[in-house]
Parts: sequence; C-alpha cells; structure tokens
Amino acid sequence: MHGEYFLSRKQGEFEALVAEAEACRRCPAMCGRSAVLSERNGRAGARVMFVGEAPGRQGGDRTRVPFSGDQSGRNFTRYLASINLAREEVFITNAALCNPRSETGANRRPTREEVSNCSGFLRRQIEAVAPRVVVTLGAVSLAALKAVEYHPFTLKENVGQIRSWNGRLLVPLYHPSPQVLASHRREPRQLEDYKSVARALVEADARARAAAP
Ligand code: SF4
Repeated sequence: MHGEYFLSRKQGEFEALVAEAEACRRCPAMCGRSAVLSERNGRAGARVMFVGEAPGRQGGDRTRVPFSGDQSGRNFTRYLASINLAREEVFITNAALCNPRSETGANRRPTREEVSNCSGFLRRQIEAVAPRVVVTLGAVSLAALKAVEYHPFTLKENVGQIRSWNGRLLVPLYHPSPQVLASHRREPRQLEDYKSVARALVEADARARAAAP
C-alpha cells in the first residue's frame, strides 16, 4: 500500500497536470475541444492504469470519462468486470487526451505528431498515478509508451503477455472497439487476454510486498 504522504504528493502532481492539460492548445486540429483528464479518470495511487488511443466523440469527449457512453466503453466495462475490477479501482486515460476528428466530424486516429505532442502528459500521468501495472488498449497506445521509456513490444507478438517496463508490469491488449472485435480480436479472445491483467496485478502486488521494508 502507498503511504499517506506519498499519495497526497502524487495527488498534487496530478492536479497540476490536469490544469496544464486543460489549457493545452498544442495540437492545431484539436482546437475547440479539451483534454479528457480529471479526477473522473481515476485516482493517484490506482494499482492499474489503462491507456487507450484518444477520447471518442460520443464517448469520453461527451461524457468527460474515458471509455464511457459508447460501445467501446460498454465493452471495456464488461471486460473489467470479468476480472472483478471496478472502474473506481483503476485509472483510465488515452495516448492523446483530446478527441481527434476528421473534416466531416467523424472520429479519426490521432496522428503521430498529436500522440508525440501529448507524450509528456502521458509520462507525467504515469509518474503521478504510479500504477504497478500499465495496460495498453491497441497499437497506438502501445507505441505511445515508447516515448516514455523504450520497449520492443508489438501488439501482434505480445498481446496478453506480462512484460517488465519502466519499473512496472506492462500488458498489451487490443482496443475494445466494435470494429476491432469484428476484425481482429473477438470477445472470447479479449476476455482471455484480460485474465493476464488479473495475473499481472497478483504478480505486481507480490513484488511490492517482497520489496517492502
Ligand atoms: S492532444 Fe494533448 S498535446 Fe494535443 S492539444 Fe490535447 S492535451 Fe494538448
């Protein structure tokens, strides 16, 4: 368990980060939208952090809570429940904190430049939340972690595996969107993948106990 002083310091770091992200206008195409980052993403000291791609127009950008209000969010909540994790126990964020849209207003993938612009925020969220386990949801977020600390992992080769990364455990998973479910990773496989998150938490907790004075 994290101590009280540690948690209040981390909470202060997190609040400063939220204020900075709210004022950020670094990506020209994101102007008019704002970063989905607040205490509604989770709390400093959460044992596990999930990192998605970017907030969706009908999802996080509208509700201000990542992975909620759309089908990806409903799938994600179901997968969390399958390993007995409640949203209140986890921290959820995205590689790009603002919602990227095409000229027609549809969701689009964040560009490499947008993810790179936001990588300082991702690094600082990881530092402030200090999770024992980081779970990436999709190839974009797995690649985004490389800017925080290099890793050689790919979704194709390492999906559902537990890897050491940046002093923590990393589990790469597929994104829970309906498109990915239909084309790359169907629900039964995704549910199997989530069991690795539960195993990683057991392993990380055991490591933390062994390292405690
Ligand atoms: S995506 Fe990140 S870097 Fe870009 S404007 Fe939003 S908060 Fe700033």
